Amino acid sequence: MNGSRRCATRASEAMTDRCTHAASSSGTPRGTARLAPSLLRWIDSGAVTAPRHAAIGDGDGDRIDFARILPFVGMHLACLFAFVVGVSPVAVLVAAIAYLVRMFAITGFYHRYFSHRSFKTSRAGQFVFGVLGAAAVQRGFVPDLKRVRDLLQFPELRWLDRFDILVPLLLAVGMFGLGVLLQDVAPHLGTNGWQMLIWGFFISTVACYHGTYTINSLSHVFGRQRYRTGDSSRNNWLLALVTLGEGWHNNHHHYPSAVRQGFYWWEVDITFYLLKLLSWLGIIWDLKPVPVAARDRSPRRIHGP
Ligand SMILES: [Zn+2]
Ligand SMILES: [Zn+2]
Repeated sequence: MNGSRRCATRASEAMTDRCTHAASSSGTPRGTARLAPSLLRWIDSGAVTAPRHAAIGDGDGDRIDFARILPFVGMHLACLFAFVVGVSPVAVLVAAIAYLVRMFAITGFYHRYFSHRSFKTSRAGQFVFGVLGAAAVQRGFVPDLKRVRDLLQFPELRWLDRFDILVPLLLAVGMFGLGVLLQDVAPHLGTNGWQMLIWGFFISTVACYHGTYTINSLSHVFGRQRYRTGDSSRNNWLLALVTLGEGWHNNHHHYPSAVRQGFYWWEVDITFYLLKLLSWLGIIWDLKPVPVAARDRSPRRIHGP
C-alpha cells in the first residue's frame, strides 16, 4: 500500500497537513486564542510540497500576525537573562533533560501518535502523551479540532487543547521551585530559582522550537533522497540525532504511517527505540512497521541502502 497516500486520507493527517505552511508561516495560525501554532506545523512539511495535499491547506497564506509571534519573541528574549542569572552545570543538565523529554513527546506522541497513529495506547496513555507534548509550549496540540474528528470524542483532550497554557505554566513554576529547593539543600551546586527557570524552561524550550524547525527547513535542503516522494524531503543523520529521529524525513514522506522513521538499523531513530521500550512495558502496542516491500522494492526508490 502506498503509505503516504493512505496517510493523506486520514482525518488525523489533516493536523500534519495544516502544519505544512512551515517556515514561511510559522507565526500565522488562525484566530487569537492560540498565540503560537502547534509544532506539527513545522514537523512535517511534506504535505505542502506534495500536490496531493494542495486542497487541504488552511488558507493562512503568508500573512504575518504579530500577536502570534510575540510570545515566541518573548521566549527568545527571556533566554538573554542567562547573562543575569548565570549558569551552573546542574542548570545545563536540567535544561538538556527538559529538551530531550519534550522533543521525544513531540516526535513520539504529537507526530507519530496524534498525527499518524502509528501505534495504539490506552485512553489514559493518550492523555499523558498530550500533557507531555503540551509541556513543549506549543499552545494547543490539536491545531483545529474540527479537522481531527476522532479526537473530538475525548473531552480531556479538548480540555487540554483549550487550556494549553496550563502545562507550560506548571513546568515553569516547577523549574523555579526546583532551583529554590536545590539552592536550599545543595547550595554547592550554585543554582537558584531564577537560574533554573531561565535554563530549564526558557532556553530548553527555545532549543526545542529550533530543533523542530529544522525538519521543515534543513531537512528539505541538506541530506540524501532515497525515495522519489515528489518533494524535497531528505534523510540527514545529524538532524536525526538533534530531533531524536525526525531527520529521516525522506523515509517519513515515503511511508508516513510507520512508527519508525529510521528504516534500517544504522539509521539512528531514538524516538523509535523509546517507543519500542514503551511497547515492552505494555504502555503502547500495535506499532506499525514499514513493510519490507515498501522499503526495499518501492518503484520510487532511487538508490540502495
Ligand atoms: Zn508526518
Ligand atoms: Zn517535510
